[in-house]
Amino acid sequence: MHRITVIGGGLAGLTAAITAAESGAKVTVHESHHTLGGRARTAEGPYRTNDGPHALYNGGPHWSWLRQRDLIGPLAPLPPLEAARMRLRHKGALRRTPPFAMLKLLRRSAQQAPVDVDFMSWATGQAGEEGARAAAHYSAVALFHHDPGALSAAFVQERLRRATRLPPEAHYPRGGWAGVVDRMAARAWNLGVRMETLSRVDALPTDTPVVVATSLDAARRLLGDDSLTWPSGRTTLLDLALRTRRGDAFAVSDLDAPGWIERFTAQDRTLAPAGEQLLQGQIPIAPHETRADGVARAEQLLDLAFDGWRERVTWRRESVANGRTGAVDLPGTSWRDRPAIDRGDGVYLAGDQVAAPGVLSEVSFNSALTAVSLALGRNALDLKHA
Ligand SMILES: Cc1cc2nc3c(=O)[nH]c(=O)nc-3n(C[C@H](O)[C@H](O)[C@H](O)COP(=O)(O)OP(=O)(O)OC[C@H]3O[C@@H](n4cnc5c(N)ncnc54)[C@H](O)[C@@H]3O)c2cc1C
Repeated sequence: MHRITVIGGGLAGLTAAITAAESGAKVTVHESHHTLGGRARTAEGPYRTNDGPHALYNGGPHWSWLRQRDLIGPLAPLPPLEAARMRLRHKGALRRTPPFAMLKLLRRSAQQAPVDVDFMSWATGQAGEEGARAAAHYSAVALFHHDPGALSAAFVQERLRRATRLPPEAHYPRGGWAGVVDRMAARAWNLGVRMETLSRVDALPTDTPVVVATSLDAARRLLGDDSLTWPSGRTTLLDLALRTRRGDAFAVSDLDAPGWIERFTAQDRTLAPAGEQLLQGQIPIAPHETRADGVARAEQLLDLAFDGWRERVTWRRESVANGRTGAVDLPGTSWRDRPAIDRGDGVYLAGDQVAAPGVLSEVSFNSALTAVSLALGRNALDLKHA
């Protein structure tokens, strides 16, 4: 029987553990935190905030993988009345529809964007500067970067397409991602995976193949390999609970600068106590900007879209997610250029900044499948269809 060690019990580590155990391997997971889930943890208590994921995209590979195993659980559908309360800020005013020029970039027939040119230059050629800028800023909802227009056109276009597809790809596990994590952990447990929490690994084991399913920063330290870097986003997070007011927006996308505010109780009432709404603003910030800059921009958006919000606040939290929102690809690079999964000597990387395709946590999922198939010496396709 193969033995395999997985370091990290987030989405990548749990995917790797389940996949390896389903193939008959004896698996041990080490997680330094006292609970599993990593960035997919949901806070306990009255305000069920997510550190990382909210949206589970149903066009991606992990959707069907989780569904085949009955691990998604109940979803919180967005009522049509709430969906109609989506707003966009453009030229300082709130509107319901995107500017016409931006729509040109969302057409199914739009050309495939190139890898080696920045999005802003390519999209300006397609739709003019105004449409290109609005589209770049909209895409921040799925890439969390302060200057999406400067990233590879192909990279931004993929996120734009996924985030604007109809019917929407984004689905919301009821109660946050904690339920998905719990179901994944239960599945791993039932397959005989040994899961050790509060078990921080400081040196790689040498007696089994290892899947290092940590953030890329943690993998760099663990492997002592300074080449393990890749750009990511830096974004201010503003979590707010507000007393309910009828007619509040469901979400506001800033087309004047990257930024997004969503009222997550619109689709899932279980996230906050009765009579209150839970919102999260994510405002990407440049390297020279501070958390306060991001918060100030979030407050401008709130002033526009949430009447009397300042008087309705019942709870508030601010933070910065730095390098925690997955890979971004600069012009001339694609996922294939990111740090390779196979590090040699039986060490494999899984996570959202390594060489695997997909959007956000799909990269963690895809890289975990590949890491396990390499570690067990099996064809990746066998595992995907197992
Ligand atoms: C604000 C924000 C919003 C996001 N929104 C979305 C979204 O809407 N949809 C989506 O799909 N994705 C989203 N993401 C991305 C998603 O959160 C991540 O891609 C995903 O959770 C990464 O999972 P992972 O398992 O690769 O890494 P992690 O979740 O970081 O897990 C790594 C684990 O390894 C553990 N660890 C680290 N070092 C060690 C060690 N030495 N020994 C033992 N354990 C160790 C850590 O404690 C952690 O639990 C978002 C992220 C952020 C920050």
